[in-house]
Amino acid sequence: MSIQTDACAQPELMHPTDAIKALLDQVSAIEDNEMVGLNEAVGRVLSEDLASCIDLPPFDNSSMDGFAFRYEDLALTEKDTALTVIGTSFAGHPFKGSPKANTCIRIMTGAPLPTGYDTVQMQEKTTTNGDIINIQAPKAKGANVRYQGEELVAGTKVLKRGLQIRAAEMGVLATIGISQVRVKRKLKVAFFSTGDELRPVGSELAPGQIYDSNRYSIKGLLTQANVEWIDLGVIEDDKEAIRGAFRDASDIADMVLTSGGVSVGDADYTKQILSEEGEITFWRLAIKPGKPFAFGKLGKAVFCGLPGNPVSSMVTFYKLVWPILNKMQGLTPKAPLIVNAKLSTPIRKQPGRAEYQRGIISRDDNGELVVAITGSQGSGMLTSMSLANCFINLEQQQGDVAAGSIVNVEPFNSVLC
Ligand code: AMP
Ligand code: MG
Repeated sequence: MSIQTDACAQPELMHPTDAIKALLDQVSAIEDNEMVGLNEAVGRVLSEDLASCIDLPPFDNSSMDGFAFRYEDLALTEKDTALTVIGTSFAGHPFKGSPKANTCIRIMTGAPLPTGYDTVQMQEKTTTNGDIINIQAPKAKGANVRYQGEELVAGTKVLKRGLQIRAAEMGVLATIGISQVRVKRKLKVAFFSTGDELRPVGSELAPGQIYDSNRYSIKGLLTQANVEWIDLGVIEDDKEAIRGAFRDASDIADMVLTSGGVSVGDADYTKQILSEEGEITFWRLAIKPGKPFAFGKLGKAVFCGLPGNPVSSMVTFYKLVWPILNKMQGLTPKAPLIVNAKLSTPIRKQPGRAEYQRGIISRDDNGELVVAITGSQGSGMLTSMSLANCFINLEQQQGDVAAGSIVNVEPFNSVLC
């Protein structure tokens, strides 16, 4: 694995791009699949290609409320053509009569085009006088008709394996009449926090104690990532308690995720137990926040150890755990969408580590994208994540950035599809 040797880089720290690539090389997609009903399918990952059994649209129909007629009956002059209306085609209730010369059919959007009629004119380009409809000639024969199979014909592949089912796919599946889909089973992630200072919400804090927030931000992220999470609570800094928790977690989950206990100041036994129980490497990444990160295998489970500082744990989750989860879920990890925005506040930065500063991106009065940092960027200040709607991504070798500079911005939860 290559270590970044850029002049500005701290030589022992790994560049995030190298780290993500190396991490992804070490995990694979789970193999188990299951059938789920369409109602349960949102967020799931398709485990097979899906073809449509029907044409879309399934029949020729009107794209407008108006009148259907035979194009050949139009005068095709400046003047409107007078046609006699002889019936109606509603959506769900087709016209059942036969076509006749110099007639038209009142037709609604989505209603079947009556047999023998070929063109529709929108209501707004007609005038009505009793049974006589004066119709302005449309541009061409076939105007305002949506033809059977024009979107796709039966047998066409519609959705690809490895695709995450979002709202649009839910609708597409329903459009082609699919009520059950084969998907990857949900990934199971067991997680806990480590630290003697941590108390669960709902309890009193003694001096020196803090509430365990990481378990909740991680729970939020795991929910967004659409995995089945198992919350194993707070594990005290005790050798055997930690050993027990690692064993329990790796027995029941595909991934064991922890926060705390991976930085240099931590009680040595967290690291000791991890290396006794599995194959774990402690990574020092050239990123800020979030330098320490542990990764490896605990039994059959993949292990990710996030730093304890609340912002660092969320940032390392976004940057490292998210792509790993995606790959394990059967998704193709995708690059985040990066946009350029003008910095409205200066940023102080030391060259050496890539930084993901918390930012707020918006449009100024001229409609241009501008971004400002949320304020103090301390790795313990979780409110900076809550205020932010994006990361401002600063390269490893970058120093201070002046207001007015153009910077790379990564809006939260955005990927290039
Ligand atoms: P550690 O990585 O365990 O050395 O922790 C680094 C910092 O993050 C310390 O200030 C911890 O108190 C804090 N911290 C660790 N775990 C959590 C947690 N689950 N929730 C909130 N703060 C935490
Ligand atoms: Mg700790």
